[in-house]
Amino acid sequence: MVENLPVAVIGAGPIGLAAAAHLLERGLEPIVFEAGPSAGAAIEQWRHIRLFSPWRFNLDDAALRLLEPTGWESPRPTALPYGGELIDGYLAPLASHPALASRLRTGARVTAVTRAGLDKTHVRDRDTTPFIVRVEHADGEVRDYTVSAVIDASGTWSNRNPLGTSGLPAIGEVRASDRISSPLPDVSGRDRASFAGRRVLVVGAGHSAANTLINLAELAKEDLETRILWAIRGASPEKVYGGGDADGLPARGQLGSRLRRLVDAGTIQLHTSFGISSLAGSEHGVTVLSGDGRSVVTDVVVPCTGFRPDLDMLRELRLNLDPAVEAPTELGPLIDPEFHSCGTVPPHGAKVLAHPERDFYIVGMKSYGRAPTFLLATGYEQVRSVAAALAGDQAAADTVHLELPETGVCSSDAGTSCDVPAGVQSLADQQSSGCCSAPEPVLIGIPTGLAHGRSVGSL
Ligand SMILES: Cc1cc2nc3c(=O)[nH]c(=O)nc-3n(C[C@H](O)[C@H](O)[C@H](O)COP(=O)(O)OP(=O)(O)OC[C@H]3O[C@@H](n4cnc5c(N)ncnc54)[C@H](O)[C@@H]3O)c2cc1C
Repeated sequence: MVENLPVAVIGAGPIGLAAAAHLLERGLEPIVFEAGPSAGAAIEQWRHIRLFSPWRFNLDDAALRLLEPTGWESPRPTALPYGGELIDGYLAPLASHPALASRLRTGARVTAVTRAGLDKTHVRDRDTTPFIVRVEHADGEVRDYTVSAVIDASGTWSNRNPLGTSGLPAIGEVRASDRISSPLPDVSGRDRASFAGRRVLVVGAGHSAANTLINLAELAKEDLETRILWAIRGASPEKVYGGGDADGLPARGQLGSRLRRLVDAGTIQLHTSFGISSLAGSEHGVTVLSGDGRSVVTDVVVPCTGFRPDLDMLRELRLNLDPAVEAPTELGPLIDPEFHSCGTVPPHGAKVLAHPERDFYIVGMKSYGRAPTFLLATGYEQVRSVAAALAGDQAAADTVHLELPETGVCSSDAGTSCDVPAGVQSLADQQSSGCCSAPEPVLIGIPTGLAHGRSVGSL
């Protein structure tokens, strides 16, 4: 790594801020670029949603070591925070800590990363050449920053999957964008006016869809004109309802049970096997057409279709990504939602997250590519290891530990492998013992998004 230059961290979400805290502990100088107006800008969009993992899994150790001496009040470890509480009670105090505040640039969107003077095809001296991070500032200024290493913690929130099947926008989807809301609107609070008394079609079969449907049902109790429609690609919603009482995260199990009751009662009108092919707007609403010719007319569409990583800004870097999941190659098969429905993953760090582009790492939600099961605790261990690797402490980088909440079984091999809390076996051990090698998915609980833009387990 080039010495005496800062390490760029892209994104001031929970994982980007944790990365900065770990870099500081290692004596490295972080500079954090955040596109939004403040830290946690993506979570700000879903501040009304309750997390399903309790506080004790949502805090990073290095961040705590910064916060605790300031008199910061630690939340109750077993309580489940709302997204807003995660910001107000943790991310905002962390971002305003003098050690981080002075190194955080908000309103600073990274648009590209490259090596100084070298495009992707140039190999000579590549590993010892500094990176250039191009940043668009909120006042319109565009600046290139020279840095020694780059940690991309920019998440996937701003890149939702399209409504259409086949991974492409449905015909007419772009034109109908004024009828399509953000992925997780606050339907009974901040965004209520756009939903009360209207026909609302929720598309998707993940955690976000379940939350939105339940909140719409609350709204419909007060505004009786509100109509709730729900479209999923699969033939049955059973897997969305999840494990109920058997879910390792009780809050998530309860969500599924409530959803089932609302559908059974007719409060939510469910359309199964509904793969969207086109949208056509008119003054009466938008007509959403399925591939087999059925149609639903609605006022608003809520796209709970999951997310995918923005790889455009990394175009000049040499990456090694799983062709399906778009996660680092070694990690991809272990989280591929085609085979894994839970958040449990072997502990992993810098080694697994490395790319041919030396000193460049994708961490956090974005490291999971299109897989929806990322958990904060996983990301905190990722950045601890990456900071150690960048500081040259290979032993610490390679010694990975992880304690995760149990989020369900992810293979038919229940009880012996992926459903035990991680921290037991490292990724290398698991690969040699063949953990999850012939998985047959069994879903307990609702994943946080959709697999490859469709719902898990071919829903
Ligand atoms: C509704 C929901 C509920 C979830 N619940 C849980 C839970 O209970 N437990 C759990 O462990 N995980 C949960 N997750 C998963 C995951 O932990 C969160 O998505 C978490 O916010 C990921 O953190 P992150 O730092 O990787 O990304 P983000 O929080 O998305 O942060 C990325 C940051 O990067 C910024 N950014 C984006 N692009 C750029 C750019 N080009 N330049 C500069 N900045 C940029 C964004 O503005 C944002 O602030 C949930 C996710 C969702 C969507």
